[in-house]
Amino acid sequence: MSEILRVEDLKKYFETKKGTLHAVDGVTFTVEAGKTLGIVGESGCGKSTLGRVILHLHERTDGKIVFQGEDISDVSPAKLKALRKDMQIIFQDPYASLNPRMSLGNIIGEPLEIYGMCKSKEEKEKKVREIMDVVGLASRTYYLYPHELDGGRRQRVGIARALILDPKLIVCDEPVSALDVSIQAQILNLMMELQKERGLTYLFITHNLSVVKHISDDITVMYLGQMVEKADSAEIFKHQYHPYTKALISAIPLPKYDAPDNQIILKGEITSPINVTKSCRFAPRCIYAKPECFNTEPQLEEVAPNHFVKCHFVKEINNL
Ligand code: SF4
Repeated sequence: MSEILRVEDLKKYFETKKGTLHAVDGVTFTVEAGKTLGIVGESGCGKSTLGRVILHLHERTDGKIVFQGEDISDVSPAKLKALRKDMQIIFQDPYASLNPRMSLGNIIGEPLEIYGMCKSKEEKEKKVREIMDVVGLASRTYYLYPHELDGGRRQRVGIARALILDPKLIVCDEPVSALDVSIQAQILNLMMELQKERGLTYLFITHNLSVVKHISDDITVMYLGQMVEKADSAEIFKHQYHPYTKALISAIPLPKYDAPDNQIILKGEITSPINVTKSCRFAPRCIYAKPECFNTEPQLEEVAPNHFVKCHFVKEINNL
């Protein structure tokens, strides 16, 4: 399998009145074509900003982005337009991301017009109806408006719009978080089917680990702009070594009503992402924290094959 995306030491800082906000701070990973990388963390951990920086919706502060073997860290507007064809996004809130004044046919077909990909109105309509069929939207909804659909069908519109240009990579930014649980499963299944059929690569961003369990090949856990643990999906659900990942996994509800409640409740203040110091950013909430954690930043360390953790005391905590 070949690498499709690589980010190296990617950083995105925002200047605020209070100082520099480190939204994304030194993130490095690769994604192979046709695979899904799940990016998980609480809101405010920088995961959505990371996706937007990769798509150049925010300009990076530092670091490198390589897509299909080409360094795209700095690109001209013309190159960016060409790239957008191959790199699409599905947003969290399908309603907010769809223009309420446009019919579904026009929303889904708009990218075809922007890229001049159809010679006639008829050709555009044919392509739109084909992609609507692919995502399970009835042809009769072509002339409907977003407010006439339920959440699940609105998200299908978002997926159809992302697919119509036949992209290689899709950044899925909390694509099912706003949906009912039963609809979530339908959309996730649809996304997995589409990935298989079209060889799509997903960056799947979510705060909910249970959502990425089945769809992700690899998982990266982020905390305050940094990666704290990464491994393949099966491995991370079997063995979590970072205290923050342990807490995230423990918060997944169990299906049995009499299952023991092992949820780890995190206490303590979340470190400010503004003007951060060289320390472990999780230290104020970590039950294992020692003085060293407050004045030295841990590095990602490989603790098992292809399993990386950012913690000074990972071996001691886990008896490795
Ligand atoms: Fe906890 Fe220290 Fe490890 Fe950070 S480095 S996760 S504070 S033990």
